[in-house]
Amino acid sequence: MDKFDYAIIGQGSAAFAAAIKANELGARTVMIGGNETNGAILGGTCINVGCVPSKRLITVARFVKELGEKRFSGVEYELGRIKYEEIVAETRELVKELRRQKYEDVLKGLENVEYVNGFGSFAGKEDNGIRINAGDRQVYARKVLIATGARANIPNIEGIEKVKYITNEEALFLDKLPESIIIVGGRALGLEFAQLFARFGVKVTLLQRSSTIIPDHEPEIASLLHQYLSEDGIEIRTGEEPARVREHKGRKIIETKNGSNFEADELLLATGRRPNIERLGLDVLKVRLEKGFIYTDSGMATSARAVYAAGDVTGEPMLEALAAKEGTVATLNALAGKGKKLRINKNEIPRAIFTDPEVASVGLTDAEANGKGIKCACNVLPLSIVPKASIIGNKRGAVKIVIDYSTHKILGMHIIAPNAADLIHEGVLAVKFGLTIDDIIDTVHVFPTLSESIRLAAQSFYADVSKMSCCT
Ligand SMILES: Cc1cc2nc3c(=O)[nH]c(=O)nc-3n(C[C@H](O)[C@H](O)[C@H](O)COP(=O)(O)OP(=O)(O)OC[C@H]3O[C@@H](n4cnc5c(N)ncnc54)[C@H](O)[C@@H]3O)c2cc1C
Repeated sequence: MDKFDYAIIGQGSAAFAAAIKANELGARTVMIGGNETNGAILGGTCINVGCVPSKRLITVARFVKELGEKRFSGVEYELGRIKYEEIVAETRELVKELRRQKYEDVLKGLENVEYVNGFGSFAGKEDNGIRINAGDRQVYARKVLIATGARANIPNIEGIEKVKYITNEEALFLDKLPESIIIVGGRALGLEFAQLFARFGVKVTLLQRSSTIIPDHEPEIASLLHQYLSEDGIEIRTGEEPARVREHKGRKIIETKNGSNFEADELLLATGRRPNIERLGLDVLKVRLEKGFIYTDSGMATSARAVYAAGDVTGEPMLEALAAKEGTVATLNALAGKGKKLRINKNEIPRAIFTDPEVASVGLTDAEANGKGIKCACNVLPLSIVPKASIIGNKRGAVKIVIDYSTHKILGMHIIAPNAADLIHEGVLAVKFGLTIDDIIDTVHVFPTLSESIRLAAQSFYADVSKMSCCT
């Protein structure tokens, strides 16, 4: 049986970051990668059926929208004509090229890492390590990382097994646009898909179970996003949970628990993710689960000795960069011996929704701070106050800052604005390093930029910034 220092089960962002770090540390490593879903080949979800193709389609859809906008006087616009199959073909090419550059070629350069294509599962425990089935081989490793990711969760709706629905995997590579689509799920994935399809001319109805979309975000941000998406022509129905679904002449018909009926050509389920754990043989090592996902401590150790886990398989938040960070931290903790363990503080991890305008946030919401018994203060700054927003002709958005009432330390930052996913990093540094609103105010921001919105939001705790000059 082949003996390794480290076995990585999975082949996505978490697994790759782990493999690169293990290689750097000179550990003899085996990476075992199986295709849990059609799209999750080498590189996993993000490159194949997640971030990369979705962000490309979102970019094209936004360009199409902008062609039709009357944003500035004196410029003639013409609505773009869409050849959807070409847009998808180019997206496939992008995925293929980036997969080659960022995964296939990178893997070839990892001299200490052997790749086995096949599923990995635990076979047994030895005195000083673990036996693992790797495809049709068995290997032995002293330490193991589980990085098997997650896949679309299919909710328990009566009749769902008889209906031809789609998930993110198919939705990103449709041969042809449907005339209408029902999207179930009003969080990041559902909303990104809703806007991109609406901008390509599809009639979109979005059903969300709770009373608002993105219920885990600040209510002011959720309500603005709801308004902007509705302005894009999306019919958003909150408080609607599907009870049963059927198909008639290719049309999907949903009846909700409220008794409302919705009908469309296509049905997209964006109803959360479930971990890829069924094939792992977790019982062999008694790996503990929490809410169905693999439990880890903040150093990415599972409940089983010598076994670590990283990425989506460990649950929310499910983000590419976090998966990679977790893979790296797990590997350092697993292989670097007895020293001080590295930890991940999820409170300082930013998250984004790539709608237009984008939503990004870090740290605590107002409600979360209150829930922790922290005496806090909050302010919301509308983007319309920021000079750059007027200059670019796009004043849609707001910045909300949550601070500790007595120390003025920034506890959370929540932005809805063009490029919010870029703007949020000032907030990330503030939360990570315990900066105050005074630190932000004292920092010169380039004029005119949307980043100024963060300084103005900080100043708004002390003054009515709508009455201030640009130069204050
Ligand atoms: C539509 C969509 C858009 C997204 N957009 C963004 C975004 O813009 N920004 C962002 O930060 N995140 C985004 N995400 C989330 C991001 O893609 C994930 O957080 C990230 O890919 C998780 O990486 P991972 O390594 O944990 O798992 P994965 O990338 O899923 O990799 C796990 C791999 O392990 C394989 N596997 C499963 N079981 C086994 C087994 N037993 N043995 C061997 N291999 C196995 C799977 O087939 C898969 O290839 C998006 C996700 C989706 C679905």
